[in-house]
Amino acid sequence: MGQPFHAAVRDFLDGRIWLRRHTPFPQDIIDRHIREGFIQTIAGIQTTNAMLNQKHHLCNRCENNDPTRFTTFHCAKCEGPCTYCRKCLKMGRVSTCTDLIVWHGDPVSFPIKHSLAWQGTLTPHQQRAADELTDSMDKGRPHLIHAVCGSGKTEILFQPIYQLLLAGKRVCLAAPRVDVILELEPRLKAAFPDTSIEALYGGADKTLQAAQLVLATTHQLYRFRHAFDAVFVDEADAFPYTADETLRKAVRKAAKPIAPVHYVTATPSEELLATIKKTGSISTINRRYHGYPLPVPRYEPLWKYEKQIRKGKLPQKLADWTTARLQKREPFLVFFHHIGLMEQAEPLFQALDSRIRSVHAAHPDRKEHVQALRKEQLPGLLTTTILERGITIPNIQVAVVGAEQKIFDKGALIQIGGRVGRSVNFPAGDFVLFYNGITYAMDDAKREIERLNKGGAGQ
Ligand SMILES: [Zn+2]
Ligand SMILES: [Zn+2]
Repeated sequence: MGQPFHAAVRDFLDGRIWLRRHTPFPQDIIDRHIREGFIQTIAGIQTTNAMLNQKHHLCNRCENNDPTRFTTFHCAKCEGPCTYCRKCLKMGRVSTCTDLIVWHGDPVSFPIKHSLAWQGTLTPHQQRAADELTDSMDKGRPHLIHAVCGSGKTEILFQPIYQLLLAGKRVCLAAPRVDVILELEPRLKAAFPDTSIEALYGGADKTLQAAQLVLATTHQLYRFRHAFDAVFVDEADAFPYTADETLRKAVRKAAKPIAPVHYVTATPSEELLATIKKTGSISTINRRYHGYPLPVPRYEPLWKYEKQIRKGKLPQKLADWTTARLQKREPFLVFFHHIGLMEQAEPLFQALDSRIRSVHAAHPDRKEHVQALRKEQLPGLLTTTILERGITIPNIQVAVVGAEQKIFDKGALIQIGGRVGRSVNFPAGDFVLFYNGITYAMDDAKREIERLNKGGAGQ
């Protein structure tokens, strides 16, 4: 035999952290690699004694250390009290008597031959941001691209990613939401036709190779460790990334210890802005790639809409708005704050056009419905905030029903409005907030959009 280890085992395990008992390989092969030092084992749960007889736990896969997210039970396998992590339970249970494994032999060496097939041209704003990002990469510092919705954020990343690939580096493009990954996958595959690319999200087909460019939901990064020379987090502010300290740690852990983590978003949190200002560099783009301003929301009162829908009546203004879209054959999205209310409204919309559908995070046909809207097989969709970002459909018109609801915060409203007017052929469109009361978030979003439109003009 040529190599003292199985190349397939290395290709699978390099950069990952995996359950010892749940690999795609026979257990005796894994055990032999451990004996011979090619694979290192790590305890699943690390427990230390804290004060007053309390135990302190750390999950070595997801780095969760929140005491409320562990359960201790009497384990038949290790015949004693055993603790498992509930945070990453969905990926297979990690407990006190579970071993995790990481690759400890020679790393995979990635090819340095790639091609960039993207034929477009960057606007001067995009090019400046790409150059600034490359400069930050050379200096090994984190970089934030703060760019308005529709400014062509993904294209900005092509050249910097290409540089990394040509240097044989391994790169990860992560996003908190699966919809964003699904939209990115075909674009990245078209841009880098000669590069091994893998998209990882719940329910994706798994491959065994070590892909050089990994697209992943941030959840999937729990399974990586010191894998990437650079990580780009797209839509960095999207739920649940901001709310979840553990996910942030998972992103950090997936990157090599000295590798910078870069961020791309239209609506950065104050916290992210402050962090990057301290340690890294920021590029700001106020203009959409086609140069037209962002659509400013218009307000329309829709008094007691909830009561009307619950009684089986579509509020008149909403029915008129939808009918106008249907007559003009303009695709549309109607955002709801609540799945139950949306599902009660669905048959009322279907009375206007029977092809109208609704989608939410757990909807079984969610992917298909969005695809059908894109192909003009559906006139419009009702949706929860899952479609607030990552979706580009030419000439889309957008309504928010119940814009005063808490879930529609400033960032969410800016993202929702960002769906409108993205294409150069249809640079404008209707962005209407139907409300039963005006909130600060609505006014803040409107003011921010107007500010960006003003500030962008001179740049
Ligand atoms: Zn865990
Ligand atoms: Zn046990």
